[in-house]
Amino acid sequence: MPEAPLLEVIDLAKHFPLGGGIFARPTAWVRAVAGVSFAVRRGERFGLVGESGCGKTTVGRLVLRLLEPTRGRIEFDGQNILALDRAAMGRLRRRMQIIFQDPYSSLDPRMTVEQIVTEPLRAGGEQRPRAERRCAAAALLEKVGLRASDLRKYPHEFSGGQRQRIGIARALCVRPELIVADEPVSALDVSVQAQVINLLQDLGEEFGLAFVFISHDLGVVQHLCERIAVMYLGAIVELAPVQRFSREPRHPYTEALLAAVPLPDPRRRSGRFAMEGDVPSPIDPPAGCAFHPRCRHALDRCRVETPPLIQAAEGHAVACWLNDGKGLEPKGGMGHGA
Ligand code: SF4
Repeated sequence: MPEAPLLEVIDLAKHFPLGGGIFARPTAWVRAVAGVSFAVRRGERFGLVGESGCGKTTVGRLVLRLLEPTRGRIEFDGQNILALDRAAMGRLRRRMQIIFQDPYSSLDPRMTVEQIVTEPLRAGGEQRPRAERRCAAAALLEKVGLRASDLRKYPHEFSGGQRQRIGIARALCVRPELIVADEPVSALDVSVQAQVINLLQDLGEEFGLAFVFISHDLGVVQHLCERIAVMYLGAIVELAPVQRFSREPRHPYTEALLAAVPLPDPRRRSGRFAMEGDVPSPIDPPAGCAFHPRCRHALDRCRVETPPLIQAAEGHAVACWLNDGKGLEPKGGMGHGA
């Protein structure tokens, strides 16, 4: 029998109201997440990727219940977390932690590193004596490549990469089973990004952690994750094991994201195309396939009918009317270049 997933998200949606007031109705709705479903196994590194505004960060916050969904279901270890009261949710949060994007604003400048790293323990009502907590924090700092003596310092004494390591130590302090990492390297220099990604990979393996790794950069997600879901305008348009993304992308949007990943050999860029235009507004998304205004393969049908996310191959789901089981053949036409 297959192992039950650690996290399961079913038809999750989040609509934010616009305008209106206490007594007035909203004038419009931002459909940030429009019904996504996926599951994450224990110890699995699962990537959510897409351009800014695709809803991936909102999904991360919904999974941790930092936001309440408009509809849908979230199960963690078989438990419907949307049915939990505040106290029970607080206890569950020890098992699911977050690493934020910006290592500059996510650490309180008035707190020492020791206070920051042990904060989740105190918030969870941990009764251990302070000396023991400090000892655990020192061990974690060393695990993430810092020194035990750094416990006495303040965030401003560290570089961006070091601050992100402090954020990682804070997330690990309560020995979680799931970490939502929201663009954890996008604010860092390229040279530091690889170090932090490798660190996350090593820690994931050592502690058996599952990740929901959120990024706009498919190259970064491909390096770290075992399965990837590509999001566009609040919906998952392709979901597959990482190897299939480079070998056989089936959605034109995935193809475009892959084209944006830098290659060491520029000659290998021939046949790749650059996507044009911006992501449409989630307030008034295009009819039919939401990607059709930017898609070089768009058919008449795409402008009126929304393609469902269907299984195209073992473990490989795609939402595109071109999904005929053969993948996409490189064709000429709009958007070629780069
Ligand atoms: Fe392009 Fe049509 Fe596929 Fe949408 S359904 S990605 S518009 S080919």
